[in-house]
Amino acid sequence: MKRLVLLVAATALALGAAAQTSRNALDGVLGNILRGQLPVPGAAANPAPAAAAPAVAGDLIGLLMQQGGSIDEAREIEIGRQLAAVLLGSKPLHADAGLQRYVNTLGRWIALQSSRPQLPWAFGVLDDAGFNAFAAPGGFVFVTKGLVDRVTEAELAGILAHEISHVTERHHLAALRTKAQAGAATQLLASQLRSDSAVRQAVQSQLLGLARNLYSSGLDQADEYGADRLGVALATRAGFDPYGLPAVLQQLRTQAPDNPLFSLTLATHPPAQARLEQLEQAMGQRLDAHAGKPAVRIEQRVAAQARR
Ligand SMILES: [Zn+2]
Repeated sequence: MKRLVLLVAATALALGAAAQTSRNALDGVLGNILRGQLPVPGAAANPAPAAAAPAVAGDLIGLLMQQGGSIDEAREIEIGRQLAAVLLGSKPLHADAGLQRYVNTLGRWIALQSSRPQLPWAFGVLDDAGFNAFAAPGGFVFVTKGLVDRVTEAELAGILAHEISHVTERHHLAALRTKAQAGAATQLLASQLRSDSAVRQAVQSQLLGLARNLYSSGLDQADEYGADRLGVALATRAGFDPYGLPAVLQQLRTQAPDNPLFSLTLATHPPAQARLEQLEQAMGQRLDAHAGKPAVRIEQRVAAQARR
């Protein structure tokens, strides 16, 4: 219990202390995604193989298509950055800077407890009325405004932790490779393209096709169940009520599949009832000691943050 209290206190402290940093981070990281200039973390100390250079960017599709071998972190981040730009290209960020700051701070706090705290985690709220959450390799996570409006803080924490787990387990990266190898992309030879901008354009249009394919068809069911289990553990470790994600699944369970606001989420995930049953089997009552925290509304947090 003592540990839990400490965790909660640490959460509050971190959320407070990180507010300023996160304000800069929002302007910095998300702005950089939009401008396509995300700095590769650790690049200064340990010169990464210039992930943003056009020659390497031209290589990304080839890399995804290659059988076997692993994709290093700098390239994973570069692939994710391009995918994040695709997502932001179809849905812009919501204009509420206070809300963006809060979600970014919350997401970063949770990601710090994950197995890959060193990634350049960036979280954003998309200006969309639907109920959706998306992640891209390397630490990019987006939720829609329609989702944020329908959940409590613990529920949002559960959703972010689910998306963070997809990133730490490299689920999207694996799915992209499978799709690229199945012929959804064609080999791109950077040397055949005349200019850097031609390479960049060709890569972007190929990644756009792969990304559309990925985000409309979803991940493997096993990856979804895995992200649910890891997500609940992660949200709990970060000090939130373990029942946040299950509560969201309860909400999804009662939605009609043809409700346009929920249809993409429902179509790209296993049935909510099956996810709840899997979680119940995995959790049992083991996390009940961490449950029962008072629900916090997101507007409360955003308002409190604005007063600091
Ligand atoms: Zn998922």
